[in-house]
Amino acid sequence: MTGHKSLNYLIEGYKKFKSSLNQNDIKFFKELVEKGQKPKFLLISCSDSRVDPSYIMNCTPGDMFVIRNVANLVPPCENNTTYHGTSAALEFAISHLEVEHIIIFGHSNCGGIKYFVDQVIKSIRCGYNYNEENINSIIDRRINYSDNFNYLKDTNKNDISYANEEKYCLLGNSKFITKWLEIIDDLKDEVKKNLNNMTYENLINYISQKAMLHSAKCLMSFPWIKEKADAKKLKINIWQFNLKEQSILIFNEKTNTYTDIENTILLDS
Ligand SMILES: [Zn+2]
Repeated sequence: MTGHKSLNYLIEGYKKFKSSLNQNDIKFFKELVEKGQKPKFLLISCSDSRVDPSYIMNCTPGDMFVIRNVANLVPPCENNTTYHGTSAALEFAISHLEVEHIIIFGHSNCGGIKYFVDQVIKSIRCGYNYNEENINSIIDRRINYSDNFNYLKDTNKNDISYANEEKYCLLGNSKFITKWLEIIDDLKDEVKKNLNNMTYENLINYISQKAMLHSAKCLMSFPWIKEKADAKKLKINIWQFNLKEQSILIFNEKTNTYTDIENTILLDS
C-alpha cells in the first residue's frame, strides 16, 4: 500500500474503481446527486496520509462529512475577517447539513502533535517561549546571527546546527504550522509535566488525547454548536485511532478515560 510515487498509480486505481461499478453502484451515485448529501457524521480528522477515516470505518460516499487538517484541531470561534477553513466547514456541516454526530478523530504517532511537542522541548532547551510576542525578536536575532554570529554570542549557544535548524523553522517553512498549533498552546505545561514520566511516543499520543479534549472545548465556543449540543441534537465524540494496533479508543466523559471501542457500549448512538 505504500511507496507508490507515480501518478499512474492513481490513474490505475481510478480505472479499477470505475470498472468495478455495477448497476446498483451507478444508481447509488445518481441518487447521491439527485437527493444531495445527508451525512449523519462529521469527522474532524488529521491530514495524515495514513489515517483515512472512511477507509478505517468501511464507509461509503455520503456517510461522512470529513474535515481534515494538521493534527485534527478545532480553532476557537473567532469573529474576524480572516480565512477560516475549518470553521467554514464546521458551519456547513452543522448549520446546513445538520449532522447528528461530531467525531474528533485523532490518531497515534501524529506528526502535527510531534511538531508541537518538539517545539516545547526545544523551547525548554533554548529558554524561549514560542509565541507571537517574541517571535519577531527571535527572527531579528537570527538575522544578526546569519550576518555576524551575534546570535551565538547573544544567547551563549554553541550548537550551530541546532541554531540553523531553528532558524529554518522560524524564518520560513513552518510559519503556518507553528501558528496553527498555537491553538493548543495551553498544553505546553502538559508536555513539560510529563516529559520525564513517559516515553516520547507515549507523550505524543497522550498530548494528542489532550488536544482532542481541547478541540471539544473549542467546538462549544461556536454558539450554533453549543446550542445544538445543549439541546441534545448534536453529540460530540472523541476517538483516537492507534496506527500500530489498528484499534480505536473512545473518550468516556463520565469516567474521564479512553477505552477500547470494542468494549464500549454506545447507548445513544
Ligand atoms: Zn496527525
